[in-house]
Amino acid sequence: MISRDSVKYFQVAQGVWGMKLVFVNIYMVANRKGFPKRWVLIDAGPKGCADKIIAMAESIFGKGAHPSAIVLTHGHSDHTGSLPELLKHWNVPVYAHPLEIPFLTGRSAYPPADPAVGGGLMTLLSPLFRREPLNLGRRIKAIDVDRGIPELPEWKVIHTPGHSPGHVSLFLPFNTTLIAGDAFLTTKPESAIYALKNIKKLSGPPKYMTIDWTDAKKSVKKLAALQPRIAATGHGPVMRGRELQTALTKLAENFERQAVPSEGRYVRRPALATQNGIVYVPPFKASKKMILASVLIGTAAGLLVARQIQKAVS
Ligand SMILES: [Zn+2]
Ligand SMILES: [Zn+2]
Repeated sequence: MISRDSVKYFQVAQGVWGMKLVFVNIYMVANRKGFPKRWVLIDAGPKGCADKIIAMAESIFGKGAHPSAIVLTHGHSDHTGSLPELLKHWNVPVYAHPLEIPFLTGRSAYPPADPAVGGGLMTLLSPLFRREPLNLGRRIKAIDVDRGIPELPEWKVIHTPGHSPGHVSLFLPFNTTLIAGDAFLTTKPESAIYALKNIKKLSGPPKYMTIDWTDAKKSVKKLAALQPRIAATGHGPVMRGRELQTALTKLAENFERQAVPSEGRYVRRPALATQNGIVYVPPFKASKKMILASVLIGTAAGLLVARQIQKAVS
C-alpha cells in the first residue's frame, strides 16, 4: 500500500496503480517508455470520489496531471458514479464498448438487479443501485475492439459480455497483466463483509447484476485462456501468479457450479441488448425468497453499512 499526499493506493504492476473507493477499484495506467508518455484512468468509481481520484493522479503524475482518456470496463453506477464530477475537471474523452454506449448517453437503462440470487447484503441492496443511464453526450467514444484504444497502444481490448452487454477487459501481453472489470472478481461481491473488507476470493461476476450467464461463462474462459500472471478486478484485491492461474482455470472449468446462481431472473433466459440498449428483459417471477428479500431490504437499508454503500452507488 502506498500512502502519499494523504491518499492511499496500491501498485498493480510497473506503470499500473489502483485505488479502492468504498468497495470499488479504479486503476491508472501509464504507457511505457517508447510509447506516447501519457496515462489513462480505467473506471471512475462510485459517486463522491472525484477528489480522491484527482489526488491520486497528482500524487503519481504531478500537480495538475490529467489523463489522456478515461476507459470504462462497463457503465454500472459503481464504476461511473464520479465520472460527471471528474469531467468538470478533466476535458478528456471517455471510451466504452459500442454496446455499452446506450447506458452512457441516456438512451437505455440497465435491466433491473436480481435480489433472488442470494449471497449477502449487497445482493439485498442491489435493487437500490442506480440503473438509469448517464448522459455523457459527445464526451463518449466507441471503442474499436480490433484496433484498441489509441491512448493505450500496448493494451489489448477484450470484449467480455455477460455482466453487461458491452463489458470489456484490458490485457497487457508484455507482462500478462489483466484488468478484468467485473467479468470475474477477486472477492465475493454479494457479501458486504467481503466487499468492504477486501477479502480475497476469486469469484464469477456479481450475481445480482449479471444479465447473461452464457456470455459470462464464455468471457471467463476467454480471460482464463490468456493465463494472466496479474489480475486487477473491479472489486477485490490484486491476485497474482500461481494462486491466480489455478483459481481462474478452476472458475472457467466449473463456472456453472461456482459462479451461476441456482435461481434468478437471468439464469434461464438472458436480457437481450443491441446497440440501442436493452430490448428484452425476462419476466419477473416473485418467489418466496424474493418476498423475503424485499422485507430484508427494508431492514438492511437502516444499517449504517447500507447507508454507506447506497450513497456510493446511487
Ligand atoms: Zn458491474
Ligand atoms: Zn462493479
